[in-house]
Amino acid sequence: DRVLSGEAMMNDLSFEQSLRPQRLSQYIGQDKVKNNLAVFIEAAKMRQETLDHVLLYGPPGLGKTTLAVVIANEMGVNVRTTSGPAIERPGDLAAILTSLEPGEVLFIDEIHRLPKAIEEVLYPAMEDYCLDIVIGKGPEARSVRLELPPFTLVGATTRAGAVSAPLRDRFGVLCRLEYYNEEHLTDIVVRTAEILETDIDWNGAIEIARRSRGTPRIANRLLRRVRDFAQVRADGIITLTLADEALELLQVDRLGLDHIDHKLLKGIIDRFRGGPVGIDTIAASIGEEASTIEDVYEPYLLQIGFLQRTPRGRIATPHVYNHFNMEMPSE
Ligand code: ADP
Repeated sequence: DRVLSGEAMMNDLSFEQSLRPQRLSQYIGQDKVKNNLAVFIEAAKMRQETLDHVLLYGPPGLGKTTLAVVIANEMGVNVRTTSGPAIERPGDLAAILTSLEPGEVLFIDEIHRLPKAIEEVLYPAMEDYCLDIVIGKGPEARSVRLELPPFTLVGATTRAGAVSAPLRDRFGVLCRLEYYNEEHLTDIVVRTAEILETDIDWNGAIEIARRSRGTPRIANRLLRRVRDFAQVRADGIITLTLADEALELLQVDRLGLDHIDHKLLKGIIDRFRGGPVGIDTIAASIGEEASTIEDVYEPYLLQIGFLQRTPRGRIATPHVYNHFNMEMPSE
């Protein structure tokens, strides 16, 4: 298990549950998204209507599930949670849709993984709150419309490009979640420390935030690991020195990069003179899948400007040479 993975791990689950902000006012950062949603929610409530369908997209761990719960709480309704891979047959989705109470939020995580046949059940449900069911077979077959209670679909995906156009078009609100800046992540670390009743000083919180790859899930996970260290090795207070020491032991460097990032970046420098080099060539040279590099390792490296994506392949930027104290090759 990679301590810097944005994906939830088994032992994150109940821990995360206890940390979830419940209201927009507790949801830190993502100001643009929050401001937009606040207006749409307020307007829907004033008109006593259900909220338009919302598509949330962005890398794992940035708070999509949390935001779905927050939206339901702000609307004063319940949320039902499922995911693309969990819905195997059209009937599964029909069962969920027909059991919703009026106004409820249906959250579908990884919505890009819904099979096409099931997606088609969603179209009339989203558009007209109804289900088209075919009864009978052959020439006898006829289609019956079933009314559904009005509901809000909140879909989440890590890959906006993988959501089909007809599905995407049926969402009234599209929200792109961004990596968090250091200030917002520091606020998240401090908030979590308070909930965990852990003593942390400001510089300790900043240090954890800096190494969390812009991702609340990682910030919370690192805080938990550093807290263990503080309890065993020190007097329980997380200071800058202590955070630094603990994160060093976890092999998380000052920018939140670990041995896999190092292997990837140094590979491009040592074997390909810094690039450009194709993703498949990089993948083969370090023994990883190209898709894993693209989905998991690369987004953050692109975000901090360490990698550049060009038509001729990936290039390691001068930041990488700086970070590793290496000389850039001259042309
Ligand atoms: P995603 O669904 O995008 O993978 P989650 O919503 O599960 O991410 O968030 C992961 C964890 O990060 C949650 O436990 C939550 O407590 C925390 N978190 C996410 N976004 C925020 C935020 N804006 N403010 C405070 N905590 C957050």
